[in-house]
Amino acid sequence: MALFVLFGNPVSHSKSPLMHNLAFAGLGFDHCYTRYLLEDGTKLREKFLSLGLAGINITVPHKEHAYNACDELDEFARKVGVVNTIVLRDGKLHGFNTDATGFLKVVQGFGEKKSILFLGAGGTAKSTSAILRDHGYSVTILNRSAARLESYREDGFECATFEEFIPREFDLVINMTSAGLEDDSLPAPLELLEEVVPTAEACIDVIYKETPFLKLAKEHGKPTKDGSDMLLYQGIIAFEHFTNYRYSFDEIYPHMKRAFEI
Ligand code: NDP
Repeated sequence: MALFVLFGNPVSHSKSPLMHNLAFAGLGFDHCYTRYLLEDGTKLREKFLSLGLAGINITVPHKEHAYNACDELDEFARKVGVVNTIVLRDGKLHGFNTDATGFLKVVQGFGEKKSILFLGAGGTAKSTSAILRDHGYSVTILNRSAARLESYREDGFECATFEEFIPREFDLVINMTSAGLEDDSLPAPLELLEEVVPTAEACIDVIYKETPFLKLAKEHGKPTKDGSDMLLYQGIIAFEHFTNYRYSFDEIYPHMKRAFEI
């Protein structure tokens, strides 16, 4: 039996243990996945080894510490400097970023939509904007404050604050902020959203519930998707790494999906 853990602070709300344990049980693995409240991210590597873990997921606020804890990194994780999945192989910690690959799959589910407006410029936007650009999408980043946009500008993304933004048509408008997670706020001023939502083909949110942003999109008759599939897909891709690619994405999918139906 191998032990897998989610490291984060907080971790009590997470669906990941249920997702992975359902897939382990459903696919015949004698493994167990649990959560671990890690307060000091600099202790991540030490904890991983002292607990005798086979693999971990990492959530807020330790994804950059996880990057620093690894011996080996996959190419994309190395590029973005953020890791949410680590697997022990031959005594070494191998790091991956499955948030971004999972999100790419969500966006690809909308077909050939090439121009994307990101509302928000935090950590999740960082890795997902990079992977989308690598796959030929054009991503514009809109953010409330100017400070966070600097690194995106240096990376060559088109960026604007709410004040600077000149509205135009985008295929997809995506809420990458935490607005609507624990309050009723919109990710950008209503007047601005009323310029970009009606002309979009669809709207996506990374938060896994119906946010005020998704409600607005529905009022305009737009197809929408909340953050559940992003969470599910990153979990399936992490599971592929945990179990050494024995089962395909499509084989893991029905088992892990049950966590969203219980
Ligand atoms: P960060 O703290 O790194 O960044 C937050 C971003 O949201 C910043 O751009 C911030 O703007 C903006 N923001 C916050 N509140 C508001 C507001 N009221 N109005 C406008 N902008 C606001 O967060 P993360 O990138 O780590 O996470 C973002 C979201 O993604 C969270 O809701 C998280 O739950 C979700 N998430 C979902 C996942 C999934 O699997 N579905 C996986 C990972 C994250 P400013 O710079 O001005 O402060």
